[in-house]
Amino acid sequence: MLNKMHLNTLLRPGFFAVLLGLMLTGCSEPAERTAYPLPEQTQDYRWTDIRERASSVLLTVFDTGEVKVPVSGVLDNLETYPGSEDKSRWVKVFAFHFNHPQYGDVLIDTGLDRRFQSGGQGSYRGVLAPFIVEDSRQQRGQNIGAQLKRAGISPNLIFLSHIHGDHTSGLPEMPQGARVIATAGESFHDYPLIMYNDHFDGVVQIEELDMAAGRAMGPFERVVDVFGDQTFFAIATPGHTAGNLSFLINSSEGWVLLTGDASHTRYGFDNNIIPGWAEDRNEAMRSLEALRTFAEKNPQITVIAGHEW
Ligand SMILES: [Zn+2]
Repeated sequence: MLNKMHLNTLLRPGFFAVLLGLMLTGCSEPAERTAYPLPEQTQDYRWTDIRERASSVLLTVFDTGEVKVPVSGVLDNLETYPGSEDKSRWVKVFAFHFNHPQYGDVLIDTGLDRRFQSGGQGSYRGVLAPFIVEDSRQQRGQNIGAQLKRAGISPNLIFLSHIHGDHTSGLPEMPQGARVIATAGESFHDYPLIMYNDHFDGVVQIEELDMAAGRAMGPFERVVDVFGDQTFFAIATPGHTAGNLSFLINSSEGWVLLTGDASHTRYGFDNNIIPGWAEDRNEAMRSLEALRTFAEKNPQITVIAGHEW
């Protein structure tokens, strides 16, 4: 209960300044950070060598539902976009899986949990949430937890392309003890009252992938061989966020390139249009160009944009 002294404290201008500061910058750190134990990076190979050592891992895509977002958020330039009269559009929210012979079940991003079945903002909270996620839709049993259970998958390792809510919203349905990995220094976006969620409540620690320890492999500036066996590569593609990651899976069924939100949409990828939501537009343009160059040089590759085939 508020007594007079508390009330006076609350009404002081300084308090409002602190509160406003907290609301605007208050990224409450949800989990302890520690370094992902990166295997030694081999220094003397090229993409052509890597293809010859393709592994038997197979990538599965889980479509966990859709969110309705402003078109201007996923496409920076709408001049040529055929649906430009639409202010909003539905995009899919994926999680990706492969089974690694040594590391077991690996998940990339986490999709949506079952709270998106009732539509609206799902597990998003805050006054700004309806402007980012205008609506959502998900069928019964489409949430990531239900799909993994049906497939008999229990992730040991969860790699996040970046720490945005639509990539972390499946975390509450992950098994306890699953390791969660994101780029070193990637900021956690959590703004009390404005835009927040509980996705990391059950996550004790985040393991940070040190992309600076990777090597330049044209056209990319920083590539990390995540397991040290050339099956799975993390590629630094900053711009949408400072630590956005794309991933390459070196499967004998063919290479799969996951762009992460370096390009939310296939349309943006094909037409060289960066996301509207970009922390650094110049970096976003460089990253998208590098991904497009890589895909052009490797025409057999399957490219999956952040939220679209
Ligand atoms: Zn994002």
